[in-house]
Amino acid sequence: MIGRPSPWVPTPLHVGRLPIAAERLAPTGVLGTGPVAMPVRALLLRRGRRTVLVDAGPGELVRHWPGGDDLLGPALAAAEADGSDVDLVVLTHLDFDHVGGTLATVGGRPRPAFPRARVVALGDGVRAARGASPSTPLDLGPEAVAALDAADVLEELADGDEPAPGLHVRALPGHRPGHAGLDVETGDGRLVHVGDLFHHELHVAHPDWHDAFDSDPATARRTRSAVMRELATGGHPCVGGHLPGDVPGRIVAADGGFAWRPTDPGTR
Ligand SMILES: [Zn+2]
Repeated sequence: MIGRPSPWVPTPLHVGRLPIAAERLAPTGVLGTGPVAMPVRALLLRRGRRTVLVDAGPGELVRHWPGGDDLLGPALAAAEADGSDVDLVVLTHLDFDHVGGTLATVGGRPRPAFPRARVVALGDGVRAARGASPSTPLDLGPEAVAALDAADVLEELADGDEPAPGLHVRALPGHRPGHAGLDVETGDGRLVHVGDLFHHELHVAHPDWHDAFDSDPATARRTRSAVMRELATGGHPCVGGHLPGDVPGRIVAADGGFAWRPTDPGTR
């Protein structure tokens, strides 16, 4: 083939739902009382015969989160995609709600859920998880990495690597070791996956509300403001692990800071 590859066609998927206390996302009263159903999203990318998944949702590991739902199967079916079509999974990080869907229990053991797929993640996160003991009951990265390593499908990436033409991994340090985003070349220009830089759209306007989610809050704060500045200036649409909507949105400058603007599905 001569010249640039054709662009990726993105389809945001709703692959899980995790009830979370409203006070964990925002100050008391802002989001009401009781649990909020936090969406978990993945991004399906297709080009010709290639099918890529960015994050895979909690999958079977949702059993560790009371009241949570694994929606990966129905989401792939709704997008007319089959797990056996997926040839690459890019993980933004190794938290259970992103890596879990890469595994399926077969014969009592976790095995790769996508039999044809390479699974890639930034080396910092993979190396931190290899051989580590879980730091919390929900830290299932070591378990997942062990299962993917046993199947010899996990590959380490570095910042800026291109796991497939038109997909550029970018380190987004602070949330977890090896936390990453992905720049995707689509027919409408660049689409930016921001990983778990935000767990609610209100965190775009109130980034300090996010500190409790980050392993290294000071670094995450710097990363978040740099990315928000970049996206507001460049106008690139973005998606994330827990941002709303079936289509990408935008981060815009507002009131001396930033705000999340959903895309009107009618205008895409
Ligand atoms: Zn997450």
